[in-house]
Amino acid sequence: MEKIKMTTPLVEMDGDEMTRILWKMIKDELILPFVDLKSEYYDLGLEHRNETNDQVTIDAANATKKYKVAVKCATITPNAARMDEYHLKEMYKSPNGTIRSMLDGTVFRAPIVVKGIEPCVKNWKKPITLARHAYGDVYKNTEMIIPGPGKVELVYTAQDGTETRELVHEFQGPGVAQGMHNLNSSIESFARSCFSYALDTKQDLWFATKDTISKKYDHTFKDVFQEIYDKEYKEKFEAAGITYFYTLIDDAVARVMKAEGGFIWACKNYDGDVMSDMVSSAFGSLAMMTSVLVSPHGYFEYEAAHGTVQRHYYKHLKGEETSTNSVATIFAWTGALRKRGELDGNQDLCEFADKLEKATVGVIESGRMTKDLALITSLENPVVLNSQEFIREIRKELEK
Ligand code: NAP
Ligand code: MG
Repeated sequence: MEKIKMTTPLVEMDGDEMTRILWKMIKDELILPFVDLKSEYYDLGLEHRNETNDQVTIDAANATKKYKVAVKCATITPNAARMDEYHLKEMYKSPNGTIRSMLDGTVFRAPIVVKGIEPCVKNWKKPITLARHAYGDVYKNTEMIIPGPGKVELVYTAQDGTETRELVHEFQGPGVAQGMHNLNSSIESFARSCFSYALDTKQDLWFATKDTISKKYDHTFKDVFQEIYDKEYKEKFEAAGITYFYTLIDDAVARVMKAEGGFIWACKNYDGDVMSDMVSSAFGSLAMMTSVLVSPHGYFEYEAAHGTVQRHYYKHLKGEETSTNSVATIFAWTGALRKRGELDGNQDLCEFADKLEKATVGVIESGRMTKDLALITSLENPVVLNSQEFIREIRKELEK
């Protein structure tokens, strides 16, 4: 069989622990036999990050700017324990954080829906994609414990020295206060990422804040989204037959529960933090959740939403069998290959991505799956496969 040709490379970022093991299996069994893979390889494994003083992460992000499409394996974000384990020169920042700040994007997370893994919410028939704003608000706050009576104010000092003051509260006794901020530029790129991704995936976009209570802060989010929509996206949305829908956050939550899915839900930073965990666990499993970073400049970075599955890796090192779910990592590859195909007008590559996804879903729906899914499936008598067997079953299905 002739392999599918690629015209432009994609950026490949290898990672750590169990997902690094899966990465190689996926490439060897599911990609390389079928695709004449062109990739620019960056090893983001912690050892190599340490050798390069993390320069490799920056190089990988720059390569993503050049080629526009990347696929990333899960990576360790070092903490104190990892400093010793890997003899690190410093406690490097999260690679995802570094890449996100260089590409200036929004992360979209969507569950992979298969028959036999049913959402807890009965009426959810299609995936709900969550888009979380990843800058500011309570994550960049300044807080104060107020010990006793006194006045708390917000003070803005303009560059010419003039001051504007707003009273927060006249305290009669002890309490707490906090200040937080956001930037129009960040809200604008969040909005553009959401509108572009909605067009890209032909799904409606929902956005919600608490603008009735937060008449300046949240209202700015609402206004920025509306302005950008009207100016840049309204006609494109109408042509694509999709809608932009704004509502209050509490109304959105109520409607999401009654909806059947198939839309993108854009959330402010805190709402996104909370709601993405709710949506992902209600859909079944973190191992069935894809994640893509979409930058307003047209860069796309695909990955799995879960981490490096450290516990399974230690078992693997001891020579014990593992049953680690590779679905989200496979879908990171198919997402990147399909996007590469779309950008290059390479129909064969897009079709291959579709087929690989279909084969993966097909194996699970036929009752063959890894342990994490076997524990929650509604299918009777599932066959539990180990990490390698599961990937081999997909290979067989794909060859059919
Ligand atoms: P994790 O890798 O997501 O795994 C947590 C647990 O979830 C696992 O122990 C396993 O449960 C289950 N699980 C997750 N993915 C699975 C899969 N594909 N198949 C089967 N079970 C799966 O989180 P962690 O162990 O807390 O973090 C490990 C490392 O990942 C950390 O160093 C962290 O920095 C990093 N991390 C990276 C990313 C990223 O690169 N995007 C994201 C999150 C965390 P059982 O043990 O019960 O089987
Ligand atoms: Mg969280």
